[in-house]
Amino acid sequence: ADVTEKLGESEALATLHRVFGYDAFRGEQEAIIEHVVAGGDAVVLMPTGGGKSLCYQIPSLVRPGTGVVISPLIALMQDQVDALRALGVRAGFMNSTQDFDERRVVEAEFLTGELDLLYLAPERLRLDSTLDLLSRGKISVFAIDEAHCVAQWGHDFRPDYLALSLLGERWPDVPRIALTATATRATHREITQRLGMPAARHFEASFDRPNIQYRIVPKADPKKQLLSFLREEHAGDAGIVYCLSRNSVEKTAEFLSRNGIEAVPYHAGLEPGTRAAHQSRFLREEGLVVVATIAFGMGIDKPDVRFVAHLDLPKSVEGYYQETGRAGRDGLPSTAWMAYGLQDVVQQRKLIQGSEGDEAFRRRAASHLDSMLALCETAQCRRSQLLAYFGQDPDTPACGNCDTCLTPPETWDGTVAAQKLLSTVVRLQRERGQKFGAGQIVDILLGRKTAKVIQFDHDQLSVFGIGEELVESEWRGVVRQLLAQGLIAVEGEYGTLVLTEASGTVLRRERDVPLRKEPPKPTASRSSASK
Ligand code: ADP
Ligand code: ZN
Repeated sequence: ADVTEKLGESEALATLHRVFGYDAFRGEQEAIIEHVVAGGDAVVLMPTGGGKSLCYQIPSLVRPGTGVVISPLIALMQDQVDALRALGVRAGFMNSTQDFDERRVVEAEFLTGELDLLYLAPERLRLDSTLDLLSRGKISVFAIDEAHCVAQWGHDFRPDYLALSLLGERWPDVPRIALTATATRATHREITQRLGMPAARHFEASFDRPNIQYRIVPKADPKKQLLSFLREEHAGDAGIVYCLSRNSVEKTAEFLSRNGIEAVPYHAGLEPGTRAAHQSRFLREEGLVVVATIAFGMGIDKPDVRFVAHLDLPKSVEGYYQETGRAGRDGLPSTAWMAYGLQDVVQQRKLIQGSEGDEAFRRRAASHLDSMLALCETAQCRRSQLLAYFGQDPDTPACGNCDTCLTPPETWDGTVAAQKLLSTVVRLQRERGQKFGAGQIVDILLGRKTAKVIQFDHDQLSVFGIGEELVESEWRGVVRQLLAQGLIAVEGEYGTLVLTEASGTVLRRERDVPLRKEPPKPTASRSSASK
């Protein structure tokens, strides 16, 4: 302590340097930490990746006693604890994945004051034994992570969170910090109320990243589109390209390298040594492109990442925001560029339906995907839509910098097209009990006698060829936008199109369907690309 005082450094800052090895606090971290260290309650709204963990980890280290962290993310606890232990922080957790003996060890460490941090699943606080244990030790701070789970009308409501109000009653002298990355104004109020923290100070980090230009283009030949984007706008810049699969990571990195752009792959299947080498090259070198799965980026703090490109659709707006947020940390102009197509939606739905999660998990994943889709298909400013999604400034004016602001998409009356498409789906389903993917439906609309059309006699349908006024890419655009508007859905392993409850309103002509015009086909890149 003597040394730090001599340097005029706070204990919090000294801990940041010594334990975590970081130079400086980010954004509101310092104010939040000082407030909690001094014993105040706090409600913190900060984007994912914004650095919430330090806001309770440092107070836990600085104040005497153990910091108790309530988190619903049981699957992450082991990793979090391992990461902290690697830094020399004495951390432990208690959840249902442990056996009796493991739990006893943690309990003993807590009681003898040998833990800096103790992670708990919220359901453990329903047990008298847990409350009794906590009463017998010394607690420095309570952190309530994912605090929006207390909001009853939210997506992620967890009844166990309601019991957390007792923390303030039983431990009135222990400061509490509630943290979340998604909260509307209403949720924020509910958090304060239900957790019983009327005197808490509110910290709201802005989600706005004005130096990032958001652009989402229809996917045609993604690797080539990426190459022209890089050549035309980001030659020699450092950036990250995200792909969904390891295979496409490898292929894309090779493709870029062959076309004169220095690029290396990064995914969990690479040798740890190779992975570390690629990561440190990215941090050290000026203009390297890393092509990666989402495994890349955690903890990457490179200020001059000039672009983040997505060749596949992220699973949620939160994911998109976090990944694109790695661009432009230095505040200089940067681009978030994404190519997205119908196939992405089909593929993601497949992943969700084939996932191990329970019904509730699948429903949540599907609604996350829907929000992502809505962002892709919006005719409004992308940035204000992002901010609105995170519950911020509903009246933010258009940014003037994203693609939809710069070239406002023209809209057209897609009511008749939507009716044609939906009636084709109805015909197949009602008259023949068949379901097909978008490809076959579009072939039928266009009157194409493909082998598969002949095989199923689809050229005999009354709807065969009724959609010749549009070209294929336009029909695909219609399908995507109907998906984004919930007027049609895809399901199953083959991505078949099915009606939704809302489809009826279109079929019965009860509503209009405004659609955005497909931008002109991307022109072939001026310079050639070798495959
Ligand atoms: P959140 O919980 O808000 O999603 P994290 O706490 O996981 O975010 O932090 C995101 C990443 O940023 C982590 O890798 C973390 O180590 C890093 N980080 C947080 N604060 C700082 C800082 N002051 N300086 C450098 N890196 C930081
Ligand atoms: Zn805009």
